[in-house]
Amino acid sequence: MEQEADILQRASYANQARVHNGYHYPRSILTALRSRVNFPRFVSEYRECIDTSFDKYYAIGKTISKVTANQFKIFCQRIDAFIEPAPPNITNLFNSNITEGVFSTKEYAFNAVKLKHRMLNDLEKASVKLSVNSKVIKVQETDNVGIKVFIESSESFNIVTTKYVFNCTYSAINQILHTSNLPTIPLKHELAEMALVEVPDPLRNLGITVMCGPFFSIMPFPARGLHTLSHVRYTPHCFWQDKDADVKTVNPKVGNKTNYPYMIRDAERYMPILKECRYADSLWEVKTILPQSEVDDSRPILFKKHHGLKNFYSVLGGKIDNIYDVPPELKFLELTRGVI
Ligand SMILES: Cc1cc2nc3c(=O)[nH]c(=O)nc-3n(C[C@H](O)[C@H](O)[C@H](O)COP(=O)(O)OP(=O)(O)OC[C@H]3O[C@@H](n4cnc5c(N)ncnc54)[C@H](O)[C@@H]3O)c2cc1C
Repeated sequence: MEQEADILQRASYANQARVHNGYHYPRSILTALRSRVNFPRFVSEYRECIDTSFDKYYAIGKTISKVTANQFKIFCQRIDAFIEPAPPNITNLFNSNITEGVFSTKEYAFNAVKLKHRMLNDLEKASVKLSVNSKVIKVQETDNVGIKVFIESSESFNIVTTKYVFNCTYSAINQILHTSNLPTIPLKHELAEMALVEVPDPLRNLGITVMCGPFFSIMPFPARGLHTLSHVRYTPHCFWQDKDADVKTVNPKVGNKTNYPYMIRDAERYMPILKECRYADSLWEVKTILPQSEVDDSRPILFKKHHGLKNFYSVLGGKIDNIYDVPPELKFLELTRGVI
């Protein structure tokens, strides 16, 4: 059941498109290592959806950074991720007064539109019936038969009874729990904006992330042929936490004013060439994380079994490659036999 007119229109589209390879998580070795394991698998399995045509650099801020350049290098060696000093033509793009080091790394981007087509194809091959424009309103226990799912679409209202329900609605997980009178899960949400920009020619085939703290990242966004610019300080516009009695529904695409001028002005201090970027648009989405991720920026998967209801599962992935963390959790389920 998908409430939108098509799949992969929400967080799996409106994100930074980074196929994580560990570099982003110097403060969570477990998330970094999981990314290192998932990266080659994801890149090989979804090859036609991956953009490998750019060079990726990580730079370390000189002041207010949570890691030093040397610590970052040691961390990369520890997780066995490729790292080398960036060549001078790249280092020269940075303001050396506020940048401690710049490194060549190996990181790719995924094309969410190609990924959507691949997923539609995979669903069809697996004979999975997909209903779009179908919003799940709530779930309800039935007497020994299974779970009733209440579904609203533009023309009709349906109730389906099923043995298992998987609530994989990312930022809306608690909305379904709340309307179903089930306990909510502590989750933190933020309204996130990523600017879409046309970069000047010397940056066209580059991705850059400045670590680790209130810095920025500029990554190719293959689905639009542009780059996203995100900034740790200016990408989040506001945040909130779900409480049992208070679960907000936020439409991320309505009524927001861009923070692009703040993002670019700060980023230009590190890379003066960014002045030549041209703003095209913004991607808006609600980003949902577990409250503990606030401390170490980790991205564990949330997998809640029988949450308030037998055979009702809620699943939240913090990264696109978290798909590989799900099958081991499902192994015991009879319904997955022969599928995974
Ligand atoms: C700003 C931002 C940047 C990110 N950057 C990256 C990155 O660079 N790399 C990375 O790996 N990850 C990144 N992520 C995380 C990644 O996007 C998510 O982990 C992933 O997309 C979650 O996938 P999902 O299928 O759970 O969620 P979604 O793709 O949001 O899918 C949930 C679906 O549920 C549907 N839905 C919701 N409620 C209902 C309902 N009641 N009935 C029916 N359907 C419903 C929605 O319409 C949606 O299609 C980022 C996330 C954000 C927000």
